[in-house]
Amino acid sequence: SLEAKNVHLAFGHNKVLRGIDLSVPAGTTASVIGPSGSGKSTLLRVMNRLIEPDAGDILLDGKSVLKDNPDELRRRIGMVFQQFNLFPHKSVGENVAFALRKLRKLPKEQAREEALEQLDLVGLRHKADVRPATLSGGQQQRVAIARALAMKPEVMFFDEATSALDPELVKGVLALMADLAKGGMTMVVVTHEMGFSRNVSDTVTFMDGGVVVESGPPGQVFENPQTERLQGFLSDVL
Ligand code: ATP
Ligand code: MG
Repeated sequence: SLEAKNVHLAFGHNKVLRGIDLSVPAGTTASVIGPSGSGKSTLLRVMNRLIEPDAGDILLDGKSVLKDNPDELRRRIGMVFQQFNLFPHKSVGENVAFALRKLRKLPKEQAREEALEQLDLVGLRHKADVRPATLSGGQQQRVAIARALAMKPEVMFFDEATSALDPELVKGVLALMADLAKGGMTMVVVTHEMGFSRNVSDTVTFMDGGVVVESGPPGQVFENPQTERLQGFLSDVL
């Protein structure tokens, strides 16, 4: 399980997170929705300690991670961004194997083997020897997901993973994310894809202005929003 407890963060005078609570039981998927600037990406970055919170706690399996080595934490939490951030000069296979060698310290041959297995899972083993630029955006994002999964993370974060993709490529990436969720991965998914949020996630958290305004199962959040802010947001995006 992953938990954020009363997390606060300010950039200068800009209070971006103002007491966030989020609880993601093991094997479940939490989606996080909300308007631009509401603090969604910042919350993910605080939860994997790319940024240190000003106050509050982050717990993985019930234990605070704030005193751990942040590099260790980033091995336990895989992250997929809007930009795929693949190395352009490395082949697809090397992109996945690189992290295995650097972070999991696997020998070259074993890293290659595991990289191929991960690429197989996302349907791209046959692309192992080409450069990322020769792939579609959707394929590149699936490579980025394979790279994150190769770390054998306990939790996966997705931050607008499909926002940069052409519309016809979005579906394949969402399907892969849905498969992961069904397979029991613990996930936090920041998304504008309301269909994914409604149909795949176990809980939906609506953030606005650095606070959680509403949170609950998708049926409740989408069918029976309690606040004007969520009602307004849903009428804008649905
Ligand atoms: P979007 O849907 O547009 O991605 P978001 O909900 O992810 O928005 P954040 O990126 O978390 O929003 O940003 C929340 C606030 O924090 C914004 O006001 C933003 O300007 C500010 N912010 C984010 N990162 C930084 C930073 N590194 N330095 C200063 N301010 C930042
Ligand atoms: Mg964001």
